[in-house]
Amino acid sequence: MEPPGIQMGPKPNKVLERGATNRDPDCEISINLGNYATNVFQAEITAISACAQEMIRKSYTNKRIQIISDSQAALKALGAVEIHSRVVKDCMDSLTKLAEHNSITLKWIRGRQGHVGNERADFLAKKGAEVPLIGPEPTCGLAYRTARRVMKDLLREKHISHWAKVPGLRHSRINQLRWIVGLITGHCPLMRHLTTIGVKNDPDCRRCGEEEETSLHILCECPALAAARYSNFGAIIIEPKEVTDAPLETVLKFLKETGLME
Ligand SMILES: [Zn+2]
Repeated sequence: MEPPGIQMGPKPNKVLERGATNRDPDCEISINLGNYATNVFQAEITAISACAQEMIRKSYTNKRIQIISDSQAALKALGAVEIHSRVVKDCMDSLTKLAEHNSITLKWIRGRQGHVGNERADFLAKKGAEVPLIGPEPTCGLAYRTARRVMKDLLREKHISHWAKVPGLRHSRINQLRWIVGLITGHCPLMRHLTTIGVKNDPDCRRCGEEEETSLHILCECPALAAARYSNFGAIIIEPKEVTDAPLETVLKFLKETGLME
């Protein structure tokens, strides 16, 4: 396959022979692209961009510049008639600016063939992952699909950490919801229900022994749970409406303190 090569700039250009090149800008750059630019193509394009920007920064004029990459995909994208990627457009803009006063050749070489510069670039790429990231994420444009996935992951993470921080929510959420539904329907592991279904034979409250252990008794009346009720609902005996009006977190915190969900 014919390797892609792109010429830019005001003057006709010839690929320079190795050895005839001036090593300028004679600098090595390693950039950490952060957590989101996992795409190799993006990394290749960003590398070409960084190269062009470095030469713009050094105000290069009337130079014959050869940029060598082992990424055919990157060079093809830069040579395409239409550009569909912000990263590629930014790179193209930098190259166009550099080409205003210089002649640029983009040249492809096969990777991992022992080319000194290519080997060095691979080494610097690995080093890039180790240097600290400077500035906010993302470091370069993301594909819509990637951005959507990142947002989704972030929201899920926030959601989980929020649930973990709500007091009284050490048990799994499913277990907590089962308890709430059970208390409303009466189908929860309280003595009255367990006796009704034949698992136990004494419906009385395990804590006070004064009345049957029902949702109403536990939530509103059991004297053995008066302290927990007072600290969560503000009274030692409460009406059912005070339970239904209270935030779910309060009810769950009270239940946790009763030890019933253990
Ligand atoms: Zn009781």
